[in-house]
Amino acid sequence: MKVVLPDNSELELPDGATGLDAARAIGPKLAEQAVLVRSNGNIQDLRAPLEEGQEIQILTSRDTHDPDALYVLRHSTAHLLAEAVRRLYPGTKIAIGPPIENGFYYDFEFPEPIGEEALERIEEEIRRELAEGRSWNREEIAAEEARRYFADQGEDYKVELVDTADGPITLYTQGEFTDLCRGPHLQDSKPIKAVKLTGLAGAYWRGDEHNKQLTRIYGTAFYDQADLDAYLEALEQARARDHRRLGVQLDLFHLSDHAPGMPFWHPKGMVIWNALEDLRRRENLKRGYVEVKTPLLYDVATWVTSGHWDKFKDEMFLVPYSDRELGLKPMNCPGHMLLFGSGLRSYRDLPLRYAESSTLHRNERAGTLHGLLRVQHVTQDDAHMFVTPEQIEEEIFGCLDFAAYLYDLFGMEARFELSTRPENKLGTDEEWDFTEAALRNALERRGIEYTVNEGDGAFYGPKIDLHMTDVLGRSWQMGTIQLDSQMPARFGLSYMGEDNAEHTPYVIHRALFGSLERFIGILIEHYAGAFPFWLAPVQIRVIPIGEAHREAAHRLADELGTYRVEVDERNETVGKRIREAEVEKIPVVILYGEKESDEALAVRERGGEQSTRSLSELREYLATL
Ligand SMILES: [Zn+2]
Ligand SMILES: [Zn+2]
Repeated sequence: MKVVLPDNSELELPDGATGLDAARAIGPKLAEQAVLVRSNGNIQDLRAPLEEGQEIQILTSRDTHDPDALYVLRHSTAHLLAEAVRRLYPGTKIAIGPPIENGFYYDFEFPEPIGEEALERIEEEIRRELAEGRSWNREEIAAEEARRYFADQGEDYKVELVDTADGPITLYTQGEFTDLCRGPHLQDSKPIKAVKLTGLAGAYWRGDEHNKQLTRIYGTAFYDQADLDAYLEALEQARARDHRRLGVQLDLFHLSDHAPGMPFWHPKGMVIWNALEDLRRRENLKRGYVEVKTPLLYDVATWVTSGHWDKFKDEMFLVPYSDRELGLKPMNCPGHMLLFGSGLRSYRDLPLRYAESSTLHRNERAGTLHGLLRVQHVTQDDAHMFVTPEQIEEEIFGCLDFAAYLYDLFGMEARFELSTRPENKLGTDEEWDFTEAALRNALERRGIEYTVNEGDGAFYGPKIDLHMTDVLGRSWQMGTIQLDSQMPARFGLSYMGEDNAEHTPYVIHRALFGSLERFIGILIEHYAGAFPFWLAPVQIRVIPIGEAHREAAHRLADELGTYRVEVDERNETVGKRIREAEVEKIPVVILYGEKESDEALAVRERGGEQSTRSLSELREYLATL
């Protein structure tokens, strides 16, 4: 048989040859370092047979940053973890252990719960395995045999996996550990140069909260110790920026089981919230939006009409009402459709841009909530534009410019993603051809680079999603611009055209911050809590040095009354009060003591030096922030 190598040359091999055989035929060094076969974007175990004419690329332990090479390394390390756990904790049952982005995990049912402190011991055991050396053996067997093997060992989860598996069953063995696994795996453990167990979490078997809760151990592995060090450093930085931690430290918000996934905003958090709301209002007004307010609860029939009932019902909170059922809105669209439909509309009224920043509720699956980034109480900076077909492009331009303005304000760069018709779409392919082309054209005519996400559109129309990359290089989905040819017709909406005939408007759904909750969560991490002056909950703190200076400090605070100023007159040392102002990341701190006067204020800028300025110089400086 013949296979095709990356340089398009052909390699002649005996029938039934494997990837490893191919590597050997090329050279012993390659065979030794080989970790994986990649073939047209798919990955394949080195020990699996190749097919006639197959295009293959052999990855090696020198492809240290290749995602597929890391994938196989981490998957193999997950098996080492399971081996170590089984040895250290007899009676532990094993569930699944896949590689994930940046690492791997393995789910276990321990006879007794374990704590974080156990991770070090397990990690040491993995290191011992590595020092001893492991190699992987791959074997295809009959399902019945696999079932018996795992049943004998009391591995109920594996038995269930065998019973629900389709395709051939493969087992991988290393050391004294055998796992049911599709692979692929390394040849041996030599390429695993750095391992770290990174955390512990609860996880339901098969992600279903009705099932038993297992213990998930997270870890990561690299081909190079330096890569692990760099990764841990980045993780440390992310931790220091974690909005949940900073949210408490800066007294912005808290979450509580009294209202799962529904933040309690503290006064300082509300300052940020309101600053964003003011920004939203001001910019909407400039751009010809009108503010509306629509109800929170709607009869289920309304959700049936909008199409949400079919696609979204599991994510809605329902409330009984008399002999009916009402649904708490997860979106504003139906309210805005009903509002548009409440009067006669003419083409002269269009585009009509309804804006509403209203509370939405989404019933998220337990275990998926995450600080402010995934909440059940969502406040969108929502808007719906009712437009004629001719107005679509101009409106999309308006949204794109608005988004660019906002993201620029926060020093964030947006990436654009066009999502096309999903499988569960409403409407005909012709309608989707039109709406998809409209979005595509708008992006192209604005010269915006974008990627296409096939099949990821909303059920009523294609969308442009805006993703931002924060200072740590992490990507977040923020705004969305969606072109809808379905919902207006379902609500029977129309406007009188210039031709005196009735037409159905198109609707553009758009949110640019996305959800305010999530946006603030991202901002906290983006700025590491050190908000720019205009957003900072406390902009200036005045610290009187001694008791005698309190009055002067308050007078100064009053003078600066247009800013958010606090006086810290506690009986603490000056050093301690300055340090606390630093921890709270207050942009400007002013010391007031014997030497100070309104002509000579000691001004400390966040992260900068202390300088002496007069009150008028200070005012000039503040105006530049
Ligand atoms: Zn596996
Ligand atoms: Zn909408």
